[in-house]
Amino acid sequence: MEIRKKIIIVGGGPAGLSTALHLCKLDPEMARDIVILEKATHPRTKVCSGALSHHGSLVLQGLGLQPPVSHVPLREIRMAYGKHYYSFKGNPIARVFQRSEFDEWLASEVRKRGVTVQEKEPIREAAIDEDGVRIRTDHGTYHARMAVAADGAASPLRHSLGWPIRPDNKSRLLDFPSPPESIPGPKAALAILDFSRISRGLQGYRWDIPTQQDGTVYMDRGLFDSGIDTRRPLLGLKPELARYLADQGIRLQSEEARLRSHPYHFFDPSNDFARPHVLLAGDAAGVDPLCGEGIAFALGYGRVAARHIVKAFQSQDFSGKGYKEEIIQDSVTGELLMRFRLARIAYSIRSNLALNVGWYLASLVARFTKWNNSDYVPDANVKEFK
Ligand SMILES: Cc1cc2nc3c(=O)[nH]c(=O)nc-3n(C[C@H](O)[C@H](O)[C@H](O)COP(=O)(O)OP(=O)(O)OC[C@H]3O[C@@H](n4cnc5c(N)ncnc54)[C@H](O)[C@@H]3O)c2cc1C
Repeated sequence: MEIRKKIIIVGGGPAGLSTALHLCKLDPEMARDIVILEKATHPRTKVCSGALSHHGSLVLQGLGLQPPVSHVPLREIRMAYGKHYYSFKGNPIARVFQRSEFDEWLASEVRKRGVTVQEKEPIREAAIDEDGVRIRTDHGTYHARMAVAADGAASPLRHSLGWPIRPDNKSRLLDFPSPPESIPGPKAALAILDFSRISRGLQGYRWDIPTQQDGTVYMDRGLFDSGIDTRRPLLGLKPELARYLADQGIRLQSEEARLRSHPYHFFDPSNDFARPHVLLAGDAAGVDPLCGEGIAFALGYGRVAARHIVKAFQSQDFSGKGYKEEIIQDSVTGELLMRFRLARIAYSIRSNLALNVGWYLASLVARFTKWNNSDYVPDANVKEFK
């Protein structure tokens, strides 16, 4: 079977679905020329804590969308180092979703606009020729002028095109699906990111994020290690998390086998984000190296990719030139550059004294910002984020 479309999006996660939604917003006629190839079937499992920051809510608002799926509204995200901490507060400051529900809802919005979402259709092989991209699946061969690799951190499309991920761009995430527990009211709206182990070698933090499943709130716990400073030896994440869980009275033993480490790679502005006829988006392009945040940026990448594709068809220039600059100039994905720079500084500091002083000063400054007001509604500023 040979199928010709203008645009193939590989991956039906937030990056791929956002690309399709933005394409339909920019040119509703395009819907019939897009196909999304997705390996799984929605609702599909995706290991993720599901916290969506206001950046992501703003991208959705720009599309005129508000997720109807249930979530935990967070009122405070606390960044701690030892006894010092500062907070980002808001009403809400972030929303925590079940990823399977959130992605299924996004996919339903895409289908409503007339885009074909081919599920159970993993890509097997891809090649670029002068006409565009050719992608083979078990059901046939798809041809298109433009393709978007929105197929996650391992990105089979990137891989098939011989476009390797740089070994010095690797991050790791390790999560522990805690058993349901009773979380008292205010704690159910507080996420804690604890950076106290930076001086011991963790280039990141340990998280406690309240989440919910079937109406029960429980704590999602895990570790993020940026790996951005390649001169520092890698810390063993499993013993680190096991130690923390033991402090919380959570016995691992048999559950230890369930600790899952997820390799990622982070956004690095020196990388290529496009090749002729192919754009990278979401985790395939790189996550935030400071906090490992990915959903909001995946939605943002989708917006940039869609704008680029519409321009490419208008100008008939499918070289991908200018895409990186567009990522950096966008109000959401542009934040990745700032976080890359900050991560390089923050995770290279080894002195406990310097970190304590830095965190103490940050906690003082934070008191005088809009983020210290728990009634602040950050996603009311939609105009700023166009
Ligand atoms: C433990 C953990 C906790 C996290 N917590 C958070 C958090 O709280 N907040 C946050 O913002 N981010 C978090 N992240 C990161 C977040 O999950 C990702 O950044 C986000 O899912 C990226 O979206 P995406 O669309 O780029 O990729 P994905 O969501 O991974 O979607 C990629 C899609 O491609 C499909 N695919 C894969 N291979 C193929 C193939 N061969 N053919 C066709 N389709 C294919 C997959 O099935 C999938 O549906 C977390 C990640 C982990 C591992």
